[in-house]
Amino acid sequence: MAKTVHKLGIMGGTFDPIHYGHLVTAEAVRAEFHLDQVLFVPTGQPAHKPPGTTTDAKHRYTMAVLATLTNPHFDVSRVDIERPGYTYTIDTLTDLRKIYGPATEFYFITGADAILEILSWKEPDELFRLSAFVAATRPGYDLDRLEHALGDLYRRHADQIKVIEVPAMAISSTDIRERVRSGRPIRYLVPETVASYIYKNGLYGATTPVPPDDP
Ligand code: ATP
Ligand code: MG
Repeated sequence: MAKTVHKLGIMGGTFDPIHYGHLVTAEAVRAEFHLDQVLFVPTGQPAHKPPGTTTDAKHRYTMAVLATLTNPHFDVSRVDIERPGYTYTIDTLTDLRKIYGPATEFYFITGADAILEILSWKEPDELFRLSAFVAATRPGYDLDRLEHALGDLYRRHADQIKVIEVPAMAISSTDIRERVRSGRPIRYLVPETVASYIYKNGLYGATTPVPPDDP
């Protein structure tokens, strides 16, 4: 049973693996918009990535749980993992609307580039009916770029599009996977529990059962 939540942040992602960029962003948005809770929603098969290239959902989900354990405002949802087929944001929001009911305000949190991808998918107007969108940008990002790229959609839904500057934007899952594969440190990029989980389960080509000492 879901708790009564007035304002809910929703952070969808592959989380392969979850990292401090995601966590810092979620916390910044939570504080800025006074959200009661932020829900991390690991994708099933992401629509924009080739099948077979994404780590098993059970690992991505478990790492998200480990990473969010110490924040009482963070939670992890299985809605996208349990829905068969590709993950589309419209389905995520529709499923969560059924769970939380009509009164909860939704804030879907994405990187500024990911927002463009999501809104170029199907039914963008319906997406805005279900949720506001918070785009996290690097400090200094040119907002006009977003306005330009969204065009008409931006003008129709300007009140539903919010932007926040986040300092940890340079961290990426791609870089973390490459670091593990090549034996470079991931300490301070992901929570220690997530690093331990990666090495214990041999994810991303890890060859030692515990994170190696930093060189
Ligand atoms: P990959 O490198 O595999 O694409 P990623 O680091 O971009 O992974 P995702 O799981 O694809 O992580 O991202 C989930 C969401 O978090 C997206 O909306 C993305 O724009 C956003 N995001 C990714 N990295 C950061 C970051 N460092 N700071 C803030 N938001 C981020
Ligand atoms: Mg990405």
